[in-house]
Amino acid sequence: MEPQHQTKAIMEQEADGPPPLIRLEAVTKIFATDEVETHALERVDLDIRPGEYLSVSGPSGCGKSTLLSLIGLLDSPSSGHYWLKSRPVETLNFNERARIRNREVGFIFQSFNLIGDLTIQENVELPLTYRGMLASERKRHVLESLEKVGMTHRTKHYPSQLSGGEQQRVAVARALAGDPAILLADEPTGNLDSKNGDAVMQLLDDLHHQGATICIVTHDPRFAAHAERVVNLLDGRIVNDNGAHGKSGAGAEKGEESDGQID
Ligand code: ADP
Ligand code: MG
Repeated sequence: MEPQHQTKAIMEQEADGPPPLIRLEAVTKIFATDEVETHALERVDLDIRPGEYLSVSGPSGCGKSTLLSLIGLLDSPSSGHYWLKSRPVETLNFNERARIRNREVGFIFQSFNLIGDLTIQENVELPLTYRGMLASERKRHVLESLEKVGMTHRTKHYPSQLSGGEQQRVAVARALAGDPAILLADEPTGNLDSKNGDAVMQLLDDLHHQGATICIVTHDPRFAAHAERVVNLLDGRIVNDNGAHGKSGAGAEKGEESDGQID
């Protein structure tokens, strides 16, 4: 059950459109080691609506990967609130978190993270095997998502037999196979040459046009411009957001500055 005070803000939001898929409110993440405390994120407010394509940019160490990990339920905030599909994430137990991560989130990493001794087909299938899905149904999902990325001719290959660009396409297929609510991509072109990087970005564009909700982290302004919404982070804070929703959206007052950066 959702505590009433936590759903109130979402209900109010519904008055002017569909509820956000993702809502972060004053989210702070502090990494504490023996010597230092690092404030990786500082009171971040962020709404992501279904179907949005958003890029997160900013210098190395500004908190981009931390933000993606929190959205993807790989880590938890030190303080603040997070709702995923109107559900307060802090109320989930360990198993519920794992289940929701598996179903709602598709991750794409800079280093592809395919498993070397599994075939392409097995790699894409792996997240589905945790769901108790029938083998025939798994196969259909796997082939459909490999088809979306143009890799059905490589199902029996191993990752090492593919180019970097092809491996990343397979990683995109793996992220898609479970039909997630959101695709999260952390520097997906970082290990690719510009031609393969362009191809992966084109693929994300296509997926977006088919309705996918995408949040991509990139430090390349050329790639950030693919997204219709650009969020800039600096020292763990959102300093600019050209698509902030509502009057309280962070950086909404800085819209002119953001237009200048995208063009
Ligand atoms: P970005 O992806 O923008 O380069 P990160 O989100 O990886 O930045 O990191 C933000 C800050 O948090 C950095 O100062 C980084 O050193 C620190 N940090 C990230 N993860 C950890 C961790 N697990 N333990 C300690 N500090 C961390
Ligand atoms: Mg990073």
